[in-house]
Amino acid sequence: TRQWQLASRPVGEPTHDNFELVTVDRPEPGPNEVLIKTLYQSVDPYMRGRMRDAESYAEPWDVGDPMQASVVGEVLESNSSRFESGDFVTGDLLWAEHIAADAGELQRVNPDHGPISTALGVLGMPGVTAYWGTTDVADPNPGDTVVVSAAAGAVGSVVGQLAKLSGARVVGTAGSEAKVDWLTEELGFDAAINYKETDDLSGAVDETCPNGVDVYFDNVGGPITDAVWPRLNVDARVAVCGQIALYNETQVPTGPRKLAKLIETRAKVEGLLVSDYQPRWGEALQRLSQFVQSGDIQYRENVVEGFENAPDAFLGLFEGENIGKQVVKVADR
Ligand code: NDP
Repeated sequence: TRQWQLASRPVGEPTHDNFELVTVDRPEPGPNEVLIKTLYQSVDPYMRGRMRDAESYAEPWDVGDPMQASVVGEVLESNSSRFESGDFVTGDLLWAEHIAADAGELQRVNPDHGPISTALGVLGMPGVTAYWGTTDVADPNPGDTVVVSAAAGAVGSVVGQLAKLSGARVVGTAGSEAKVDWLTEELGFDAAINYKETDDLSGAVDETCPNGVDVYFDNVGGPITDAVWPRLNVDARVAVCGQIALYNETQVPTGPRKLAKLIETRAKVEGLLVSDYQPRWGEALQRLSQFVQSGDIQYRENVVEGFENAPDAFLGLFEGENIGKQVVKVADR
C-alpha cells in the first residue's frame, strides 16, 4: 500500500519535490483498531502550515513522516465493537491508501445521508468552520452587507449561503468567471468580484457595496482584505478565518497598518479556529445537513482522481483550481 510523506519543506510555493510517494506494508489493526481502505482524501489550505517548521495552530510535520489528512474510508477489518467491516468512517488520519486507526478517532458516515465525500466538505470540517464562523463570530443581521473572500471555496461558499439565509446582502470575491457565475447565478450571492480580472479592487468593492461593509469574512488576507478594510462600517465585524494569499510568502508583509479604521468604526476583528467548536460539532453538522437536504445550501466538489495525484490536488488550492471543496478520489467503494 502507498502513502505520501513530506520529502522536504517548501520555501515559498510548494512543489512536487516536497512530496514522496512510498510503498509500505499494509498495516495490521491492533486492539481496538480498525483497518480502513481510503476512498476519499481531503486536501486543505492549513496543511501548508504543517509543512513549515514553525509554531502554528497545527503541529508541523517532520520531514520523512507520513502526512495527515481527513479521510473517508471503508472498514475492511475491525477489532472494535463500534465498527464492522463494510462501515464507512471518517477521521483525521493519513495521506495513505490503507490506515490502521483507533476506533475512538473515527466517526461513522451514513451513506444514506448523501455522498460520503461530503464528510470532507460541506458536512465536515470546512462546513463546521463556515457554520460557527458565520453564526458565532461574523453574526450577520438582516440588511447587513457581508463580504466573503475565497467565496467559491469549501468554507466561503457555505458562509455566503448562510449569510443569505440570515437576510444579509452578500458579495463574494473569487478568482474566475466560472466561480463568479456559480456564486451569483446558483448560490444567490448579490454580487461577486473576479479579483484576478479586476485592476481596481477598491473600486469594485465600492461598486458592489454601496452602503459599505458590515461583515467581512476573510479567508484570504492580502490585497483583497486591503481593499475591503477602508469600506468597513461603524460596528462592523471582521471574522479572520484564513489568510491563504500569504501562506506561501517567504516574507510576510508588515501590517496591518490601517488600524485607525477600527477607531473610526469601533469594528471588531476576531480570529476563529474550528477546533474550538469540537463540543458543538454535531450541532453544526445537523443544521448543515438539514440545509443541504432542503436545498437551502448547495455545494460542489472538485474531485481529483487517483491517490498519486494528491499533491497536484493540494497545489491546485493555491491556483484556485477548485470550485467548492477539493477532494481526492482514492478508490471505488
Ligand atoms: P478553498 O476551498 O477556499 O480553497 C482555497 C481557495 O483560495 C482557492 O480555491 C482560491 O480560490 C483561493 N486562493 C488561493 N490563493 C489565493 C490568493 N493568493 N489570493 C486570494 N485567493 C486565493 O479552501 P477552504 O475553504 O478549505 O479554506 C478557505 C480558507 O479558510 C483558507 O485560508 C483556510 O486556511 C481557512 N480555514 C480556516 C479554518 C479555521 O479554523 N480558522 C478552518 C478551515 C479553513 P480563488 O480562485 O478565488 O483564488
